[in-house]
Amino acid sequence: MIDFHTVIVGGGVIGLAIGRALAQKGKDVIVLETASKYGTGTSSRNSGVIHAGIYYPKGSLKAKFCVKGKELLYEFADKHKVTYKKLGKLIVGQSDDEGKLQAISEKAKNNGVDDLRWLSRNEISNLEPELNVSHALFSPSTGIVDVHSYMNALEGDFINFSGQIAVKSKFQKAVLENPEIPLWKVWVSINDQSEELEINCNYLINAAGLEADAVANQIQGLKKELIPQIFYAKGNYASFTKRCPFKHLIYPTPVTGGLGTHLTLDTGGQAQLGPDVEWLGPVDSSRLPGATLDNLNYEVDTNRLEKFAHDVQRWWPSLDVSNLAPAYSGIRPKLSSPKDPPADFYIQGPQENKLGGLIQLFGIESPGLTASLAIADHVIKFCKH
Ligand SMILES: Cc1cc2nc3c(=O)[nH]c(=O)nc-3n(C[C@H](O)[C@H](O)[C@H](O)COP(=O)(O)OP(=O)(O)OC[C@H]3O[C@@H](n4cnc5c(N)ncnc54)[C@H](O)[C@@H]3O)c2cc1C
Repeated sequence: MIDFHTVIVGGGVIGLAIGRALAQKGKDVIVLETASKYGTGTSSRNSGVIHAGIYYPKGSLKAKFCVKGKELLYEFADKHKVTYKKLGKLIVGQSDDEGKLQAISEKAKNNGVDDLRWLSRNEISNLEPELNVSHALFSPSTGIVDVHSYMNALEGDFINFSGQIAVKSKFQKAVLENPEIPLWKVWVSINDQSEELEINCNYLINAAGLEADAVANQIQGLKKELIPQIFYAKGNYASFTKRCPFKHLIYPTPVTGGLGTHLTLDTGGQAQLGPDVEWLGPVDSSRLPGATLDNLNYEVDTNRLEKFAHDVQRWWPSLDVSNLAPAYSGIRPKLSSPKDPPADFYIQGPQENKLGGLIQLFGIESPGLTASLAIADHVIKFCKH
């Protein structure tokens, strides 16, 4: 039997950020990661954009953690020499999009993002000559980060503060043995060996991303109605195979389930379009942890390229589909179906689940990467001792 202050299930950017924050406070922490390396799930399948905090409803966790997380992430990146570029982004539209852009500008102000400004037509064509739009808002605080270098820095800090990461270690189930202390017993399988390891801990944090619902389902005593229905929504990317004419990130107005097919650049200057929104449907939380993780289909269907080109030609008319190639994809663990309004992050603490020491994170889709350090600061407040 091994004892830790905290067991974190999931070594994505969220688990790593929480682990680092707790280890920094001198707590004994272990991160369990079922894959053979940390950060290989959704955390390495995204746009790498440091979002400004523009789109989310006022007062939502997404708005609060994105705005705070952005500041923390830029500071962290400076301190740890993580590669990032504050490129800025243009949110663009034609004359019939003016109302939507106006609403976006209001939302940003409500969230405390007060650096957005309207560009004149002259400014638009000076900044981005290939753009053909009548309106654009400029967000100077939006940037891009090298996600792997960010996660490596989080991991480095975590290990320096004596944190431990156990890879090829899959959470199987947990039971609250003593609610007063609190004391949890957690069962972990190592690299599919038949014998399971038992770990004691005071705090159990479920940061299992796409599998958070399946992990929750294996926590004995947790009321099933406290496990939200998750809907997977795949986001596909296409890469632009020629030299990119844009210097900023270019976003149209948002669509249901996503931000609209946009153009992002990575820190090496390579451009990609996406992610789009391909709903994969509701998932069944009674599946065993890890049962479907290895079978997720991340392939990008070539047939989607025409649609990418069609969407983007609205603002980049000279784009030719022959210059697009299937790239990569990621999957969003959404808490809303295509028919519902977008849902907020759901962070469930012990007061809500009535199981001392249990903290669970559900629906950590975009802007989870940007928000990661702010989420970590929030979560560790649940750990009272
Ligand atoms: C297409 C797309 C684009 C995005 N773009 C952006 C963006 O530009 N900017 C931004 O801020 N955010 C973006 N996001 C969101 C961001 O990527 C996520 O919010 C973030 O990566 C979530 O991290 P996580 O740690 O919760 O999940 P993950 O990275 O998925 O980590 C969870 C980990 O848990 C492990 N795990 C699962 N089950 C078990 C188990 N039983 N035992 C042990 N380990 C287990 C998994 O292997 C995985 O490594 C995007 C997301 C998507 C899908």
